Amino acid sequence: MGMIEMQYTSTRDSSVRFTASQAITQGLSADGGLLTPYYIPKLPGNALDELKDMPYQARAVYVMKQFLEEFTVKELTDFAAAAYGPEKFDTPAVAPVHTLNESTHCLELWHGPTCAFKDMALQMLPHLLTASLTKTEEFRTVCILVATSGDTGKGALEGFKDVKGTRILVFYPKDGVSAVQELQMVTQEGDNVGVASVIGNFDDAQTGVKRLFSDEALRKELDKRGFFFSSANSINWGRVLPQIVYYVSAYCDLLRDEKVQPGQAINVCVPTGNFGNILAAYYAREMGVPIDKLICASNSNNVLTDFIRTGVYDRNRKFYNTESPSMDILISSNLERLLLTLTQDVDEVKGYMQQLNATGRYQVSDKVKEKLQQRFFGYCCDDGETEKVIGRIYAKDRYLVDPHTAVAFSALEQYRAETGDETPCVVVSTASPFKFCGSVLSALGEKNIASGLDVLDQLSEKTGLPAPAPLAGLRGKEIRFTTTVEKAHMVDAVLSMLE
Ligand SMILES: *Cc1c(COP(=O)(O)O)cnc(C)c1O
Repeated sequence: MGMIEMQYTSTRDSSVRFTASQAITQGLSADGGLLTPYYIPKLPGNALDELKDMPYQARAVYVMKQFLEEFTVKELTDFAAAAYGPEKFDTPAVAPVHTLNESTHCLELWHGPTCAFKDMALQMLPHLLTASLTKTEEFRTVCILVATSGDTGKGALEGFKDVKGTRILVFYPKDGVSAVQELQMVTQEGDNVGVASVIGNFDDAQTGVKRLFSDEALRKELDKRGFFFSSANSINWGRVLPQIVYYVSAYCDLLRDEKVQPGQAINVCVPTGNFGNILAAYYAREMGVPIDKLICASNSNNVLTDFIRTGVYDRNRKFYNTESPSMDILISSNLERLLLTLTQDVDEVKGYMQQLNATGRYQVSDKVKEKLQQRFFGYCCDDGETEKVIGRIYAKDRYLVDPHTAVAFSALEQYRAETGDETPCVVVSTASPFKFCGSVLSALGEKNIASGLDVLDQLSEKTGLPAPAPLAGLRGKEIRFTTTVEKAHMVDAVLSMLE
């Protein structure tokens, strides 16, 4: 047996040392920090050239293997085939790059089963997690608990559906998801899935799930029945890792199609919420992908724009419900991992996080701010501008984007206007426009928006584009889950679903 060199440590305690499988099983460090690779491995000099002629699945195996020494190539190959195969993704490219012009390319991350970029990680995570459980000799059935305001719940349900050794239970707020999102969840197929709505808003569902995690009596009862709880939260390393792959893959596509020369720098522009997606781009850069600048795009919840510009992170501000709801976030948890890289000092990170907890605010040192601003640029736009951008890109390029992606295009426009930097840029597209038909139709000038699923046809007729099969297929689907619980009775729902 060779020595295992790739180790994981906590952003708040450098004495923590885990293997990959321990990090993925555990999710979060006991000190509240995030489990993070001790160092970022470098790709060998010829790697991009070799990978450029490989399919997405093989690129995924190659990149992930660098971080997962205890996993065999055979294991990872099986995982990638299951996660990114033709039953799951509607294009063999998996994450295709759509070129708008010489210097603007759009990386489409929504060709999976739920039509949003969460699929890129949540299709892979169940395989990484179940294998990690075996490697760490955990033989009980893992029960994934999720509180969701939309995309994550459906993504996790599709990822864990019928995966051996797992159960998944999703709680969504009765009054907090769109009709299409609710339909996506209550029609979920699979023998190991459960879905219930909670009376109240997202906070109620989230608080309820947190309480389940810390309910000692429930934990004992589940143990008796052979179950234990885990989470599919975006801070799990098993969710960040699969996201590094598509940045490597996008660069390989550009190389293969001779849209960039070997070694030529690109920028990336990422619509950002919890900071997981753009952090993966940063790690791809550390691995050796020639990424120069990272442009962080936010909606009116622009806490990150301000942070990048001033070095002050301040969540004490008005919260906006926007047309790009998956970015309606004021605490970007994955930022903590970037802070560790920039400071190389767990005590400094811990200090910032303590301040954030206590006051909702922290200010990084000048040294950290300088490092941050060398690499990151932040821009934001409101709903009005988001719709204008959707209309502009459609009129100019006949290319249809969803509101999250539009926020990124706005950020790129602002970046180029401010800096004059015309480096080729990969704009990350995180959702199918058909997931947000109402906003998109209105951006295209439609005044009367159809109701329910009829909006899919309306957008199809308007643009000549077919609705993605997973959304169009919702129509004929049987409703399987109708349970609504009060926050106080979520325990009973869990127990009855785990009989
Ligand atoms: C989750 C999500 C985002 C934000 O990604 P983070 O990794 O949280 O920064 C952006 N767009 C869509 C459509 C999403 O579902």
